[in-house]
Amino acid sequence: MKRIQMVDLKGQYAAIKERVDTSIQEVIDAAAFINGPEVHQFQKELEDYLNVKHVIPCANGTDALQIAMMGLGLQPGDEVITADFTFAATVEVIALLQLTPVLVDVDPSTFNIDTEAIKKAITPKTKAIVPVHLFGQAADMETILAIAKEHQLYIIEDNAQGIGANYRFADGNTIKTGGMGHVASTSFFPSKNLGCYGDGGAIFTNDDDLAHTMRGIVNHGMYQRYHHDVVGVNSRLDSIQAAVLRAKLPKLDSYNDARRNAAREYNKAFAGITNIITPKIKCTTNQESTALCDNCNCHVFHQYTLRILNTDRDALVAHLQEKEIPCGVYYPIPLHLQKAYQDERYDEADFPVTNQLVKEVISLPMHTELDQEQIAFITNTVITFMNS
Ligand SMILES: *Cc1c(COP(=O)(O)O)cnc(C)c1O
Repeated sequence: MKRIQMVDLKGQYAAIKERVDTSIQEVIDAAAFINGPEVHQFQKELEDYLNVKHVIPCANGTDALQIAMMGLGLQPGDEVITADFTFAATVEVIALLQLTPVLVDVDPSTFNIDTEAIKKAITPKTKAIVPVHLFGQAADMETILAIAKEHQLYIIEDNAQGIGANYRFADGNTIKTGGMGHVASTSFFPSKNLGCYGDGGAIFTNDDDLAHTMRGIVNHGMYQRYHHDVVGVNSRLDSIQAAVLRAKLPKLDSYNDARRNAAREYNKAFAGITNIITPKIKCTTNQESTALCDNCNCHVFHQYTLRILNTDRDALVAHLQEKEIPCGVYYPIPLHLQKAYQDERYDEADFPVTNQLVKEVISLPMHTELDQEQIAFITNTVITFMNS
């Protein structure tokens, strides 16, 4: 059996090596490292794939979030609601821009932002909601869009983990994640579903004016060379990364299918095992099920995350390590308890789900190259431990 990895980027590269190597060499030969044609081509191809009007490439997924918030003109003191159970980048940029982060609890079955908690958190100062399509599953956008409309709030979709997922509305209309809010961000960090070979990110929007504003912001606030109209940043996707992404974008759907197939195998093996809760897929076509939702593909399994009940999780992690099976705990600490983001306004009673999930979750290897033998070895190892 091949050694199991959390993410197998070497194996994935082997299958596209020729195309990637040629494209990278072409960038070097042309010496068009910044703003080269590859970047513009990739931008167009991603706009077509996502069916959004504007893609603005930038340096990473954290910058993408920051530029989106700057582009919307959010001002210090504006409140931005986001999930307590996610990667820190979201809350980090909110705080960095001196906006006020308002962390709320998540749904225990999907790990995504709890829409009832959003409603409770809205005040006259609320300006935006940042739903994160966590672990690759689309957040409950139908409800979130309705809340935003009622209260005139912006939606910034953090699509760093969800690229390629579809969200199907109750009326049957299907939109890719990142195309539903006013603006969305993604990351091309190597381990993401669409990853480059360094850092990269992008912002998406269907709003022409907002796109224009953000194109200036990413380039030092310039709309005309050496005329700095607004305070901007320097955030670019370089041509070599764009070349890698152009080689991988046509494969994104098959990559996501491979992840979904691995998730299906995991689910099958863990079905009925006491104290294991497999990921629930919940959307408008699939009210709440462990079966994959094949009508809309609303989950693209950036992570495959179990909840482990009544079990010493550290002992399970140690057991897996002993068998050379990598795993991860995403995320071990609620954001509202992180030193940098503590705030006396928070009441522990408002975070029962996140406080519980951080003790229960464990993510198993998930990537495009997992084979049946590896999955069987992983699931058997977990099940043996759980039954012992
Ligand atoms: C990875 C990630 C980011 C940040 O992306 P970087 O490219 O690493 O800056 C933001 N939000 C979420 C949910 C992520 O998973």
